[in-house]
Amino acid sequence: MMRNMKKSGSIENQDVGATGGSGGIDNIPVQLLDALKDAGHVVVFTGAGVSAESGIPTFRDALTGLWSRFDAEALATPEAFLRDPELVWGWYEWRRMQVLRSLPNPAHIAIAELARQVPELTVVTQNVDDLHERAGSTAVMHLHGSLHSPRCFDCGRTHSLPPGPPNEPEGGRRLRPPLCAHCGGWVRPGIVWFGESLPEDVLAAAFAAARACDLLFAIGTSGLVQPAARIPFLAKQAGAKVVQVNPTATALDDDCTWSLRGAAGVLLPQVLKDLTQRK
Ligand SMILES: [Zn+2]
Repeated sequence: MMRNMKKSGSIENQDVGATGGSGGIDNIPVQLLDALKDAGHVVVFTGAGVSAESGIPTFRDALTGLWSRFDAEALATPEAFLRDPELVWGWYEWRRMQVLRSLPNPAHIAIAELARQVPELTVVTQNVDDLHERAGSTAVMHLHGSLHSPRCFDCGRTHSLPPGPPNEPEGGRRLRPPLCAHCGGWVRPGIVWFGESLPEDVLAAAFAAARACDLLFAIGTSGLVQPAARIPFLAKQAGAKVVQVNPTATALDDDCTWSLRGAAGVLLPQVLKDLTQRK
C-alpha cells in the first residue's frame, strides 16, 4: 500500500536534537510535556529500533551463521516453512534464544512507567519479542505476531514452549519443529510472514486506538512497513499530537508535531523525568 497522505508542514513541527554528550538532555519541548500532561489517552507505537537498543538484531541483521546464505524472504514465508520446516524453525528458535537472553532497556521501562502517569496508554508494537511485557507493559498489541506464541500450521491451535531460552548453538542449527498435540501438524512460529495478513482484530484495535488518542509516540520505526505505518497518520488526521523518537530521519519527519532525535533509551527516561517535575 502506498502512503498517500498529504504532507503538511505544521508550524509546531520542531526537530529537537538530543545532546551527544553524557550529560542530561534539557531540550524536551515544554509544549510536548504540557500536551502529554493533558492527554487522556496516549498511544506508544514502537518498531525495531527499540529492540535494537536491547541488542536484538533486526530482521536482516539476524542472518548470520547457518543462515547467512539465505534471504530473509526465503525464511519468512509459509512456503519456506513447508519446503524446509527444520531450517525455518531452527532460525526462529535461535532468534527466540537471542531475545530471551536480552533485557528490556530504559526505553521499554520508561514506556511501562509512563502508563502509570497518564489515564490511558496503549502500546502497539511491530516487534515480535516480549521486551515490552517484561518491562511491565500490559495488553501489548503485537501487529506482526510474536516469537513466543507458536501455533499449529494446520489447525491454528496454540502451542506452549518450555520456559526459558532455548539452548541453541551460537551459529544456529536446523531443528525439527514440535508437532501439534491436537492434530499432529507442524508447529510454526507465531509470526506474520511475508505474504500473510496482519491479525485483523489486533490491527483494528490498533487503528481505533490511534484514532482515539490525544498524543502518539512513534519510536524507533522507519514508518515504511505497511499497513502499520498508517498508525501515526491516523492519529494525526484525528487531531492527535505525534511525537517521533528516532536517531535518524524517517518517512514521518514532515508529519510529526515534534521529532526527538536520539536513542529512545535516553530520550524517553528524560521525557518521563521532565513530566514528573512539571506535574
Ligand atoms: Zn494442529
